[in-house]
Amino acid sequence: MLVKEAIKQSLDMIDILNKYNIRYYKKMCSCPFHGKDKNYSMQINEKSFYCHACGKGGDLIEFVQGLFHLGFQEAMDKINIDFGLGIQTRGVLKKNEIERLNREYEIKVEKELQEKLRKTNEFIKMSDEFRELGRKIAEAAKDITYYNWELKVSDIAKMDIRREILDLEMEELNKEG
Ligand SMILES: [Zn+2]
Repeated sequence: MLVKEAIKQSLDMIDILNKYNIRYYKKMCSCPFHGKDKNYSMQINEKSFYCHACGKGGDLIEFVQGLFHLGFQEAMDKINIDFGLGIQTRGVLKKNEIERLNREYEIKVEKELQEKLRKTNEFIKMSDEFRELGRKIAEAAKDITYYNWELKVSDIAKMDIRREILDLEMEELNKEG
């Protein structure tokens, strides 16, 4: 059997996403190929993917190729080693090189997560400050109109924080598989 076919028989796209810490929700994920994709533009099929925003698509081997900037043979070597498939490949990508790629990738993922947490914390802080400002205005004006305005602002802030928390929880869930 061809190496390509053996890999596709052993794995699904979901296995690849789980392995490389890519969040997904209802067969959609954030596209790693066209920059910050907040809208989950990438459709995940059983053995392939397609991004509705940038048009990139392919099979699961091509996905790994794009993710790690590898050639086709190299990507197959990487998948074979990372998943311990034990398939006889050409072995163009050496094990220490694969380990180096994985270390770099882990650092990149961790950085992205930290950045997201930082932004969320910043947002929560900003919302609190905004709410405090609204309260001060209402106090100073002693005007029922301002008071209502403050309530509306704080409700919107609460909704946004809830959405961020849900997003983070989803991330945790996806991590757990
Ligand atoms: Zn894309």
